[in-house]
Amino acid sequence: MASGAILTGSEARSVAYSAVDRATRELVGTSKKIYVEPEVGFRERKTSALIARSLRALGLTVEEGIAHTGLKAVYDFGRPGPRVAVICELDALRVPSHPGSDPESGAAHACGHHTQAGMMLGVAQALIQPELRGLLSGSVAFIATPAEEFIDVSERLEMKRAGLLQFLSGKQEMLRLGTFDDVDMAMMMHTAAGDGSPRITVGGTSNAHVVHHVRFIGRSAHAGGAPDRGINALQAAMLALNAINTQRETLQEKHVARIHGIITKGGTAVNAIPDNVVYEGRVRAMTPDALADVNEKVLRCYRAGALGVGADVEITTIPGYLSMRNNPDMQDAFSRNAETVVGASNLRHTEDAESRGGSTDMGDLSTVIPAIHPYTSAATGTGHGPDYVITDYDLAVVAPAKIMSATVIDLLSNDAAEARRVVGNYKPLMSRSQYLATQAERFQTEMYKGR
Ligand SMILES: [Zn+2]
Ligand SMILES: [Zn+2]
Repeated sequence: MASGAILTGSEARSVAYSAVDRATRELVGTSKKIYVEPEVGFRERKTSALIARSLRALGLTVEEGIAHTGLKAVYDFGRPGPRVAVICELDALRVPSHPGSDPESGAAHACGHHTQAGMMLGVAQALIQPELRGLLSGSVAFIATPAEEFIDVSERLEMKRAGLLQFLSGKQEMLRLGTFDDVDMAMMMHTAAGDGSPRITVGGTSNAHVVHHVRFIGRSAHAGGAPDRGINALQAAMLALNAINTQRETLQEKHVARIHGIITKGGTAVNAIPDNVVYEGRVRAMTPDALADVNEKVLRCYRAGALGVGADVEITTIPGYLSMRNNPDMQDAFSRNAETVVGASNLRHTEDAESRGGSTDMGDLSTVIPAIHPYTSAATGTGHGPDYVITDYDLAVVAPAKIMSATVIDLLSNDAAEARRVVGNYKPLMSRSQYLATQAERFQTEMYKGR
């Protein structure tokens, strides 16, 4: 190739693929390094520092400490145009039975997020190639987001009370902080369990959810000597959970509703009637109306549990995630490149209205800017289970880096015509300020007196 010549699209993609191929060992190595040092949300300090170092080594300026552990680095192609974000999620979750878990915290990469750093750094490696500067317009932002797994609710509420957070997930908080204000569209990929074939899946949606922090408040008394003088908060919680189970027959399959939770504090001492029991709960459904309906039923059940034993209950309702809306124009560009990288027969389309049942804060992002969240079947086992492991790092890191960098090339070449089309066609569900107001409004605390 003559220096200074403008590349064709396919030449540009070859430049990107070669760059990813050359960096493969390093990209996979970074992901594996993150796997063996799993960190949960808002505490991903080592993970974040490692990614920051890698981006700096590529000559990029990195803004660190966004929403505690998040980071952002922008690479500008030198001509005006839209900004495309490529995102990686930093956090592990807590699955102590996972073979890769940290013995102290129980943190484990049982959702495969450690591969996303490799993917994102691969895209960075590809797009900083000097040959591409003459071809692309606009810019790309590399953004690492904390705390996608909505866990540790009590601790995060404490952080909120201390003024360290407003929202309890990374992308929600970064939306509040304005990290995405100069971003026109965003993409990331997530791993999924597959059957060994190199499958990439686009489309589909995710469940919206609402998070509950529920404190049943009773009265302590000697469990042997004076149980009649106590009010048993654990019995109130059990009654509430049984009441929730009575509602399951009212759930409609088409809403993919889920109600689940854990008791994070069940009492203090076996010889005292428990007076303070905490339940961390979650309600999920595909549509806002279905979510509101199921949520109301569950709130009723918490109150019923308290009323049944004459306890009180403090219910904190926390804004969870919104449903994912995959942008069709970005998805078309992504799909073309996925076909090139893994073969047309290995690309699957999920119906827009189909939810896997889980939730992601990419859903929140997709309500305000165009976004896509495809899957790569690089894992085996069950998501969030002890057997969820990445078995194919080529499919987990290398192929996604190639597909996403080629997608950015398609979006930003020809004066960023495709990216401008994405922006022109996009109708946000809400403006950024509407989003923040809506989510802030969902934060509510109710004290129900059942005694
Ligand atoms: Zn997960
Ligand atoms: Zn995940």
